[in-house]
Amino acid sequence: MAKKYEDEFCSFCGRGKDEVSMLIAGQFGAYICSDCARQANEYVLEEVAKLKKRHSGERKGSLMKPREITAFLDNYVIGQEEAKKFLSVAVYNHYKRIGYAAGKEGEDLDLEKSNILLVGPTGTGKTLLARSIARMLNVPFTIVDATVLTEAGYVGEDVESILTRLLQDADYDVERAQKGIVFIDEIDKIARKSDNPSITRDVSGEGVQQAMLKLLEGNIVNVPPQGGRKHPEQRMIAVDTTNILFICGGAFEGIERKIAQRLNTQVVGYGVQKKTAHIDKDDLLKYVAPQDLRSYGLIPEIIGRLPVLTYLHPLDRAALLDILTKPKNALIKQYVKLFEMDGIALKIENDVLEFIVDTAIEYKLGARGLRSICEAIMLDAMYDAPSGNKKTLTIRLPYAKEKVAKFTGTLPGA
Ligand code: ADP
Repeated sequence: MAKKYEDEFCSFCGRGKDEVSMLIAGQFGAYICSDCARQANEYVLEEVAKLKKRHSGERKGSLMKPREITAFLDNYVIGQEEAKKFLSVAVYNHYKRIGYAAGKEGEDLDLEKSNILLVGPTGTGKTLLARSIARMLNVPFTIVDATVLTEAGYVGEDVESILTRLLQDADYDVERAQKGIVFIDEIDKIARKSDNPSITRDVSGEGVQQAMLKLLEGNIVNVPPQGGRKHPEQRMIAVDTTNILFICGGAFEGIERKIAQRLNTQVVGYGVQKKTAHIDKDDLLKYVAPQDLRSYGLIPEIIGRLPVLTYLHPLDRAALLDILTKPKNALIKQYVKLFEMDGIALKIENDVLEFIVDTAIEYKLGARGLRSICEAIMLDAMYDAPSGNKKTLTIRLPYAKEKVAKFTGTLPGA
């Protein structure tokens, strides 16, 4: 090893002047060699690039225009154009409103929050839409099931526990949680069971709706950080719900009848011919209006707090086929990736994909069923292939049929 000069060596790597091509002197007897200087330069450039990327991402997220939001959603959600459009505008306005509220001084115009209600059959993408929005915005997000909520005193969770979960997702950063998104699923399950006041009143449904109002309308709510009532001594955290975006979803089974009734009564009189001619009886949900929700059993105050109302279509065969292969994280892409990690090229023939979709339709499983059918087909292959030495695997129709026949008894809903 070359001899080191006592006082001339790189303060970073410790090599002496004769071991490096150049040694640059700094203050207080410190030196940096050309190699370390180059490395430091590369490191700085990398970090600056990362920071720039992060900031531009944040800016982009907050400024994304409605059309861009829809384009983003298209990566994950097939079809549902109307819902995407409504959601994109509502989300855009929501975050614009937060910016406005933060920057306004001496302004006396209040931009009101636009919470959203998605009505559509189960498994058509309501949760997926809400989740994708949260992913795009990189804000805290939580999903709660309205059916587990009951009034305080009954068995179940309090409405405040919704915010506990949001806080947890935000790592207890209250500021961030206050700009998050809450998806309340199965909101239709807390509807009053009957519109007819002479029938025994369904108190709990209405009570939960009242309690939920407090969250939706923008209030300071005291939230138990650990949730539940198991820790009565815990200190509460005050959360302001003014800027939290609530997206509610529900299947509202049978609401078509209410819609049909309303449309029928509306079309009595002049112009009957013209109006009825335009009604698409197979997809009545597209005519859903606030008064139908009221007939269904939501209280008017809740409906008023969910001003953006939109609907989702049932998924047809073509949509289900697309769902299998097209979204960024489509099921089939996931299986291909899993096999690729074992060095195996997986191919699934087209008629197998059609068979998967037809089975999902036959068993009325919708998009949710696609995964269990795929699992049934792929299980044995996923079990055996990693220990084998084949580099390719093609799934053909007879094989798929055989596996599904074995499993249909265990498919949900079968
Ligand atoms: P919902 O909330 O309407 O009951 P989900 O959004 O939970 O339904 O959908 C269940 C699953 O089905 C999703 O995770 C997704 O894999 C698939 N899915 C449903 N609808 C769509 C869609 N429109 N586009 C892509 N995938 C979908």
